[in-house]
This record gives sequence, structure tokens and C-alpha cells, in this order.
Amino acid sequence: MSQFHVNAAPPDPLFALVSAYKQDPSPTKVDLSIGAYRDDNGKPYILPVVRKAEELVKHDSSYNHEYLPMSGLPEFTSAAAKLLFGADATVLAENRVASVQTVSGTGANHIAAVFINTYRPEAYKGEKMVIYVSNPTWANHKAIMNHAGLEVREYRYYDSKTLRLDIDAILHTLETAPAGSAVLLHACAHNPTGIDPTQDEWKKIADVCERRNLFPFFDSAYQGFASGDLEKDAWAVNYFVSRGFEMLVCQSFAKNLGLYGERTGALHVILKDPVVASNVKGQLAKMTRSEISNPPAYGARVAAKILADPELFKQWKDEDLPAMSHRIIKMRKELYQKLVDLKTPGTWNHIVDQIGMFSFTGLSPEQVKRLINEFHVYLAANGRISMAGLNSHNVDYFAKAVHSVVT
Ligand code: PMP
Repeated sequence: MSQFHVNAAPPDPLFALVSAYKQDPSPTKVDLSIGAYRDDNGKPYILPVVRKAEELVKHDSSYNHEYLPMSGLPEFTSAAAKLLFGADATVLAENRVASVQTVSGTGANHIAAVFINTYRPEAYKGEKMVIYVSNPTWANHKAIMNHAGLEVREYRYYDSKTLRLDIDAILHTLETAPAGSAVLLHACAHNPTGIDPTQDEWKKIADVCERRNLFPFFDSAYQGFASGDLEKDAWAVNYFVSRGFEMLVCQSFAKNLGLYGERTGALHVILKDPVVASNVKGQLAKMTRSEISNPPAYGARVAAKILADPELFKQWKDEDLPAMSHRIIKMRKELYQKLVDLKTPGTWNHIVDQIGMFSFTGLSPEQVKRLINEFHVYLAANGRISMAGLNSHNVDYFAKAVHSVVT
């Protein structure tokens, strides 16, 4: 008899969908579940610039499998910070950003949560550190925050009647948040809704964060992937920087470099004082040491090559990133047009208005069930589809399936 009483863990709903898709023998099956880019044949995609960088990394005389420093590959973390904040950013020139390499975006969120739980903003007087997350949000946010010991509260983000951002609800909730609370904000391409605040709405969110002394906790998982433009997708982050906030940014290279399984990411904490920034960096490295000793090397080496080499960077910025984001935008247009042509009941403008990897279709859980069971189309129960799973071969089938379950 074991001394442990452990119940079976419930299956992760999204990964359970992926395995159901894999087991489905239907030749017309469609996978719109996980947020990973697929090419027009539905195949995983290695960016051409990544292939080139990999060759360079492997032929580099310094290539080996030694450990990285605890805070990661310095060339990577500094290039990653420049990509987010701009090469000539004042906060970088003033040494006010503590950057460490993390286990992709998930690891950045985790270390960031542990950091704010350990070193709370001065204004925070509550017992348990509170973080506000959007409702809905990326399925893993709440689990990561709870696991790090934070209390998770929600702000309503999305109005399911209008299928739009609920800016009034966001502002109202933040207005009543205890001073010093953290507020998790998606830098761009909000997951799962695909709806971002406008610049004017971001200004209002910054106003309330400033007035209520809240701590902005940005999650940037899609820079360059949302619009195809790296600077545009970092606008909200840099707007908050320009307002002088102390804040943090979790950064993932899973989507924009397609380095999903290489776990390539960083955490950047912006502080008002360079001495504090240096201390924060040391403490983040110490936290990293006790959890993973040091972060994974390969993806960081590949990313650093691309970010540092002007030719490779240009190819990524001008060719590879726009190719991915434009294919997704094209799929949005085609899906929208097909639903309009089929005269599918309802309005479908949100499909083209939304941005990034995902679309929040507005389909009900019952309709989703029918799509899975009758049409072999796999999507999340909340109606979220990964646009990258659509292509010129299956968009017609998908539109007709949606039409059938809606009418
Ligand atoms: N944040 C958000 C909002 C995401 O959508 C994702 C990826 N699904 C991540 C973080 C982290 O992904 P990864 O750990 O693969 O970088």
C-alpha cells in the first residue's frame, strides 16, 4: 500500500483534443486546437531564416553543449530586450532593465510570478499577492499564477453579446483593485479572443494603472506574429514604458521564430533605478538556479544569431514573419467570405477584425461538440480556433461545417 494518496490528474483539455485528433481516422479531419503555425499543407513549419541560423550555429567554432550562465546567453537576452524596447531605448541605455533567459514564455510567466510574490510592490498591503488576469485568458495563466502562490482575480475583457472588448468592465475592475496589485496584460494578439485594445483604450488602461498604482505584468507571446510588424506589435509595451512605469514583460520566441519546443524566452523587469535593476537581475538568476540551474541553450543560440545578424534579421522581419501573419490574415478573409456567401446566420466580421493566431468564433459549446463529433473538426470548447490550422485545402470544408452547426 503506497503512503501517497494521489488522484489521477484530469487530462489537459487542449492536449486531450490534440490526441483525439491524432487518433481520428477521418480523412477530412481538421485540427484547430493548439496555437502552432502550420503551412498551407497543414504541416509544422521551420522558418527559412531559422534553418540558415541553425547551420551557422552548428558550424560555429564555439558550438558545444556546455551550460549557459544562470541568467542565460548574454547575447540572447540583450538582443531580446532590444527587440522589445528598441535598440536605442532610454531604459536600456540607463541600465534599468533586468533581463534573464527563461523556459520560453511559460517560464517567464512563472519566474515573474515568483518574483512579484517574493518582492511585492511597496504599495501592496494585502496578505496574499493579487494578480488580475483577463477573463478569458490563456488557459495556463491561472495555473501558473496559482502555482506560484498568487491570488488570481479577473477583469472582464470580452463582451460575449457584442463580441467586442469590454473596456468599461476592464477600467471599472482595475479602478477598484488594491494598490500595488499586478495586472496581467497581453502585449498583442490576445489569447484566446484575438481582440486587442485600441491605442486610445491602452491609454485609458495605463491611466487607471497609474492612478491606482498597479503593477503592469505584460505577456508578449506574439511580437511580429500578430500584424507582421515587430514594432507595431510592441506598441502597448513601449507606450507603458514611455509612461515611466516599473513593470515587467514576459517574452516568448515560440511563435514568432517557430521555436516552440526549444523553449526560448526571456523575462525583462523594468525598474526606475539601475542599482535595483542589477539586484533584481541577480535575484532572478538565483531563482533560476534553484529551479532549472540554467536555461536551455540551443534555441537561444539560434535566436541570438538571427537577432544579431543584419541579413538574417532582415529576412525574418521582411519575409518570414509577414509570410506567416499574412497567410493567417488571408485565411481570416477566406473564412469570412465563405460564411457570408453561405449566408450563415449571424455576423462574422469579428473573424476579420480579430488579430493573431486565434479567432474567438462565438460558437457555443454544443456547436463545438457537433463540429468535433460530426465533422471531425477539433477546436477548444470555448469556440477558439487556431487560424493557423486553416489552409486552402480545408477552409471550405470548415466553413460548411460551421454553417451546418449554426443553422
Ligand atoms: N502567453 C500566451 C498568451 C500564450 O498564448 C502562450 C503560448 N500559447 C504563452 C504565453 C507561452 O508559450 P511558450 O511557453 O510556448 O512560449
